[in-house]
Amino acid sequence: MQVHQFDAVIIGAGGAGLMAALYASEQVNTAVISKLYPTRSHTGAAQGGIGAALGNLEEDHWEWHAFDTVKGGDYLADQDAVDVLCKEAVDTVIELEHMGLPFDRTPDGKISQRRFGGHTNNETGKPVRRACHAADRTGHMILQTLYQQCIKNNVNFFDEFQVIDIVMNGDRPAAVIAIEIGTGELHVFQAKAFMFATGGWGKVWTITSNAYTLTGDGNTVLYRRGIPMEDMEFYQFHPTGIYRLGILITEGVRGEGGVLLNGEGERFMERYAPTIKDLASRDVVSRAIYLELKDGRGVNGKPYVHLDVTPKTVNHYLKEAGENRSIDAHYIESKLPDILDFCRTYLGVNPVSEPMPVQPTAHYAMGGIPTDVDCRVLGDAEGTVIPGLYAAGEAACVSVHGANRLGTNSLVDLVVFGRRGGKAMADYCKGAEFVELPANPTAEAEAQLNRIRQSKGKTRVATLRKEMQAVMSEYVGVFREEDGMAKAVEQVRELKERFENDICIDDQGSIHNYDLLEAWCLGSLLDLAEVTAVSALARKESRGAHSREDFKARDDVNFLQHTFAAMGPDGKIALSYKPVVIDRYQPKERVY
Ligand SMILES: Cc1cc2nc3c(=O)[nH]c(=O)nc-3n(C[C@H](O)[C@H](O)[C@H](O)COP(=O)(O)OP(=O)(O)OC[C@H]3O[C@@H](n4cnc5c(N)ncnc54)[C@H](O)[C@@H]3O)c2cc1C
Repeated sequence: MQVHQFDAVIIGAGGAGLMAALYASEQVNTAVISKLYPTRSHTGAAQGGIGAALGNLEEDHWEWHAFDTVKGGDYLADQDAVDVLCKEAVDTVIELEHMGLPFDRTPDGKISQRRFGGHTNNETGKPVRRACHAADRTGHMILQTLYQQCIKNNVNFFDEFQVIDIVMNGDRPAAVIAIEIGTGELHVFQAKAFMFATGGWGKVWTITSNAYTLTGDGNTVLYRRGIPMEDMEFYQFHPTGIYRLGILITEGVRGEGGVLLNGEGERFMERYAPTIKDLASRDVVSRAIYLELKDGRGVNGKPYVHLDVTPKTVNHYLKEAGENRSIDAHYIESKLPDILDFCRTYLGVNPVSEPMPVQPTAHYAMGGIPTDVDCRVLGDAEGTVIPGLYAAGEAACVSVHGANRLGTNSLVDLVVFGRRGGKAMADYCKGAEFVELPANPTAEAEAQLNRIRQSKGKTRVATLRKEMQAVMSEYVGVFREEDGMAKAVEQVRELKERFENDICIDDQGSIHNYDLLEAWCLGSLLDLAEVTAVSALARKESRGAHSREDFKARDDVNFLQHTFAAMGPDGKIALSYKPVVIDRYQPKERVY
């Protein structure tokens, strides 16, 4: 067992972790632990853009961005945090530009911006160009840029180390325990401050845009040590995943003029969102697709609709909308190169000449580790700060996305709150001491791994994972109701039992033992699936991404509040609630 000491330790090397590391490392000795090589983090897969009201192509204001974010989140977002997000988005994007991020440009050399769902001119209600982008590889460029800057700043990287436990001393974090994937050895990382920036957990569902590694480990590590999870019932399904594969087709396609068509060739979003149509918020569009499919208007009787970005179709609708511009194949090739490549490679479909088959895909966690606007983790619904513990990015819940995140707002969240969190950690470290370690800090981590290694059951990890994904997709997906969610809770608990008592793995070695780690990650997914289903069952209303067939209306009287789900000492989940911060925008009915 090796013991390391740093002032600040950041777990996760995606956009949030790297931005935090960049800022923390300016002041204190900083390490980043990542189970992936940093540039393989999911941030690198982000496509469409990062939202900031630069107003480069038309009038825009950060206050408009803030209102859109609150409305998009169905009024569950904390409005003080949203103000921070949208105001600081502007100079953070410019900071990224100055670090060397190669954004697309307007003819006069400014950062190019495009339309995205739910981002509007607040006066007309029409879409506004707010998404700054580097073709459809915006996240890739952000990740590379931040990684280079971290290397320049001498951040210490521990690549391919997976954190599986946090050691607490009273209410203070003392160390995290990581397994070095290449050797199987356990390492203790002692620090004054820790940040969890471990990304999302789309692998809870069958069809997802998320990478295999998105198993919510950081959330689970904290949850198992008593930290609550906020608003876990709000999980976003992105409307346009590639049919059956779930691979994401960015909203940027619709931002560039692409439209959704049902099996009858009808642009059905005109019926669901008359003003903003295909660029309504994601929860609205995903539900519309489901309803079209339910009513038998899929394409060729199959459960998918078409996303059409062929110049012929786009130009037809641009003309109909009275816009005096048209696009050609070359334009599409230059703005959406990766999307075209995915469709050609995985589907044999060429989006320049034919429509893409799409269906909703599990995409983004609005909920997560509760924090304040300086990324300090909150230990309860009363807002008690846990000194030395921070979280940022998709793993965290500030909450700026409320019940439904707008496209482009995750990348902003990463860099705005990564930066704030990194600064806050450094400030904290300067006045803090190391927390004393208990006698055997790796005991719990070892016990967890040994339980899996020694399990002599019959069920394969992959089989159990598929069963969990099927249950969650069926009962805790785009539409939900009481009986289904209750079944999900029960069945996930059964799966957890089987995970404890009836799994088997083949590899008993220590070097690159992915058999073992995949099993550990399944345990993490099961815990998060249970918290999600339990939180969802208790919310008897429809809001944002949480849409109930038995409670169709939003209920601001009883549910304008954040859910906090914590594991009690008896292993049972206890729910409590926290009021939403509402200052400028009183809840209204959402119309797009
Ligand atoms: C296909 C796709 C396209 C997207 N497009 C956009 C977009 O255009 N605009 C937008 O705003 N958002 C987009 N999103 C959402 C956005 O990309 C993500 O929410 C965001 O990148 C998450 O960043 P993060 O820093 O929180 O975590 P990630 O980038 O997911 O990084 C997580 C990090 O944590 C590490 N980690 C995880 N578990 C452990 C562990 N146990 N031990 C050690 N390290 C660990 C990983 O190695 C990794 O470095 C997209 C998402 C997807 C999936």
